[in-house]
Amino acid sequence: MAAMIACIAGEEITRQWSDGQLAGEELGRRETPFGLSGPIYHVTNHERPFYALARYGSGLAKPAPHRINNRANIYALKDLGAAGVLAWGPGGAITHDLAVGNLVMLSDLIDQTFLRNQTFFADCALGYLRQFPVFCPALSRVAAEAAGRVNLAHHTAGTAAVREGPRLETPAEIRTLAAVGAALVTHLFVPEVFLARELQMCYAAACYVVNYAETGSRHRPFAAGGLFGGLVTATDAERVTATVRRMGELVSAVAAAAEAGDLSCDCAATMARNVEVYGLSDDWRTWLDAAP
Ligand SMILES: [Zn+2]
Repeated sequence: MAAMIACIAGEEITRQWSDGQLAGEELGRRETPFGLSGPIYHVTNHERPFYALARYGSGLAKPAPHRINNRANIYALKDLGAAGVLAWGPGGAITHDLAVGNLVMLSDLIDQTFLRNQTFFADCALGYLRQFPVFCPALSRVAAEAAGRVNLAHHTAGTAAVREGPRLETPAEIRTLAAVGAALVTHLFVPEVFLARELQMCYAAACYVVNYAETGSRHRPFAAGGLFGGLVTATDAERVTATVRRMGELVSAVAAAAEAGDLSCDCAATMARNVEVYGLSDDWRTWLDAAP
């Protein structure tokens, strides 16, 4: 059966597909009006089926974040019939409340990107959308509850600063982000979350802590040859692996809730006023041609 929920992640998907943690049908890249999406898998080896889309390949095949074709990715998942996305991505801890391996269901973000296509609607009025709540509260809640059931250390809220990357942040940048209330720093989830809203999809972000940001809670000295220059230890890496191993279970739990009609939210009506005011078709694909 087709899936209602999709997971977007990076190397995690490629790796888990290779070692059998995720299994099912490989759908490949999908053609969209914005070019090719990332590779998509129809995952069927968990309790409920879901789609998994890899933002980028692993190893050397990992481009800078601004090179990800986010519009193609979101379009492709919507086109397949997905109603919601549980996105996964790594982040660095800024506050003392977070530890490596923790999962944070993001509740807000500070967008500091500047090279990415942020909208499907650059040439018309359809992109002027309120960003509250930023992430789907229903989908976030179900994912957090699933994390609790498997005793995964998690936080039900947190504000992330999203930076352009690919470089990591300087100490002064992290101090600035701490001062404005960011708990974590990441390069991901933007503009995915904004694009999903434009197509009336639920979107929640599971950010797993992979390191302590410079001058964050546990600043570490530079170590030549170490992962991220010594920012990540072997113990840290094990904790991260244990958290990411739960990805399929959490996405499956969200898929089960979606199928049962248990996701109560307003995400599917984000464009309701635009549809009425501008006399748009109910077919979201036609919205892309709405420019006068
Ligand atoms: Zn929603």
